[in-house]
This record gives sequence, C-alpha cells and structure tokens, in this order.
Amino acid sequence: MESVQSKLPQVGTTIFTVMSALAHEHGAINLSQGFPDFKPDSRLMELVYRKMVEGNNQYPPMRGSTALLNAIAKKAKRCYGLDVDPLTEVTVTAGACEAIYTAITTVVHPGDEVIILEPAYDLYRPAIELAQGKVIAHRLQGPKFEKDWDEIAKLVNEKTRMIIINTPHNPIGKIFTAADLTALEALVVRTGIYVLSDEVYEHITFGARHESVLRYPALWQRSFACYSFGKTYHATGWRIGYCIAPAALTKEFRKVHQYTVFTVFRPGQLAIAEYMEDPHTYESLPAFFESKQRILEDGLKHSRLQPLASQGSYFQLYDYSEISDALDTDFARELTIKHGVAAIPLSVFYQDPPEGERLIRLCFGKKEETLLLATDRLQRI
Ligand code: GLN
Repeated sequence: MESVQSKLPQVGTTIFTVMSALAHEHGAINLSQGFPDFKPDSRLMELVYRKMVEGNNQYPPMRGSTALLNAIAKKAKRCYGLDVDPLTEVTVTAGACEAIYTAITTVVHPGDEVIILEPAYDLYRPAIELAQGKVIAHRLQGPKFEKDWDEIAKLVNEKTRMIIINTPHNPIGKIFTAADLTALEALVVRTGIYVLSDEVYEHITFGARHESVLRYPALWQRSFACYSFGKTYHATGWRIGYCIAPAALTKEFRKVHQYTVFTVFRPGQLAIAEYMEDPHTYESLPAFFESKQRILEDGLKHSRLQPLASQGSYFQLYDYSEISDALDTDFARELTIKHGVAAIPLSVFYQDPPEGERLIRLCFGKKEETLLLATDRLQRI
C-alpha cells in the first residue's frame, strides 16, 4: 500500500500517549501524563449540564462566547493588571494546544527561525516544522536548568520570527523571574520578534508569583499568551483554553483558528464563564497543589530518587542515578512494568538529549491516595 510522504518523519506517538497506554496495560499507577485523576468541582459540572438544558448547544461565536471573553478579560486585569479588550484581544481555543499551534502557524513563514529553550514541551518543535520554520534550541544549563539571556540574544538574526517561553515550566517545574521577563522584554523591543508564552500552569506556583508576559506592556505588545482551563479547573478532557494577544495579532490568529477548529464546546464555555466569577476557583490552586507536591516529596524522602526543586506546574523531576544507570526511556519503561509506577523520561523533551542525564518527571496532580500508593512503591526500589 502506498504510504503518505511524512511531513514529520522524526516524530512518533507523543510520549504522554505512549506512557499512559503502558501504564494502563500493566495496571501501573500513572504519574506520567499530566492530568488529574480526580473530578472537577461538581458545581462546574452542573453548570455545564444547565447550560445545555437551557439551550446553548449550537455554534458559539468563532472567537468564543462573549460571557467567557469578558470573564477572561476581567481575570487578566485582576491577576496581571492588564486591560485587554475581550472582543478583539481574547480567543477561546480547543485547549492550550490549539492556541500554541495556531499562534505558531499564524506567524511562522517558511524559513523563519523560532527559538525554543530545551528541555521544551513536545508540541513546539513539530508545530514549527509543519509551518516550515526552523527550530533554534537554547539548552538550559546545569542541574538548575539556567538560561543565559546573552546567549539567547546572540541567536537572534534577521530570520528569527519568534521565541517560545514556558512558565511555570513543563517538564522541569521552574518559573521565570521578573529579571527573566525584563531581559526578554528588552530583547523583543530591540529585535521586533514575537513571543509565544505558554502559561498553562499560571495558577500553580509555590512561593513566588507567576510572571506573566501580560504584566509587561511592551512585551505583551508582541506576545501570544496561551492558557488552559483544563489545567486550572481539572478538566483536561474538555479541551478549552484561550489566547490573549494584542488586536493586530489576534486578528491574524483568528484567521487560522476559524479554519482549524472554528470554535469550541459552547456549554463548557458558558459554564466556565459563570464559575470563574469567583476568583477563589483559581486563587486556591497554589495551596491545593503545594500540599500534593509535599505528599510526593515527603513520601520519597527515604527513597533513592533525588528530587529537584519544583517551583510550579504539577510536575517534579527526580534523579534516579542512585538506582540505575539505564537511559531514562528504558528506566521509565522498567519503572512502569516492574515497579508499577509510570513516569515520563526527560530526554524526550530534547532534540539531542544531553548524555548522562538520569531524570524522570513525576506528576503530582493526583489524588492523595494515588500519591501515597505510588510513593510506597517507589521507596522500595
Ligand atoms: N500536558 C500534559 C503533560 O505534559 C499532557 C498533554 C498531552 O497528553 N498531550 O503531561
């Protein structure tokens, strides 16, 4: 049979699907793919049902339901002090994945260069390549994954179209500082490149505040900021996210959005709009996830897995070099099959993984009992 000439010859099935399937096959506890194993708030679920019964079952506006656009703009003002025009600067998307994919497709022309910081979430590279752009990776250095803004600045040339940042960071769980954002702002203002800011874990930070591009007006002028209600409201399967970008950028973004998904699940949009009127629904997240992070870290205190600090997101990296010298992809498989806990190997987030890194990512966005069961198994290894 004739096979399709691949546009993504290097790409296989995403690691999240692979590891979740392996966990399922072997009945392992799944700390690999980042999704909660608990339900969203029942009030939110009831609101979805009510919106359906009230008759909101046909296409919402292409840009998103007006009630939700307004609620998002209100939240942007409350959290980051930015005045955004809900009708021209906010677009509701099919999860943050679509927002990220659409932003890349909107600005990247064939031959354009896009800077990413590795390790990087696995969606960026294929999206850039499908737009026939070229990925330029800056490697985060050392055990603390430090970035070097002088080195990043040197990567910018006349072909550079965009830089992608991610804070809180998946998979390393680090957050950008105010100094990072100031350095980025200076770079962007000087060079005129665009920014894609993946902020899906905006409400999951421990200690320091989340530095959104929305806090930096000159930076925001060139930015697409992408968010996820799946992550914020424990409903990753609903696929509802959004992008905030200045009107001129949003205008082009919507041209792509309207011919990919057109629009997303209307009852969910309206339910979220009503639910998020209460800021506690998102402002309670740091404490909620910090206690889970503690359960994981405390549970592994006497294990041979060494934690790296998690400042945000619902992920934490663990060094397993005391247990094994195997490659992380092999170790993650073995952990799932032999020890009954699934994890994500870090190397999949690099094009050319550094040699000798022995790190796995564990997701603590799970029920307490799940975390306790997993740590019990892991500390025996
Ligand atoms: N963002 C989630 C993670 O990092 C998974 C998303 C997906 O499966 N595509 O685990």
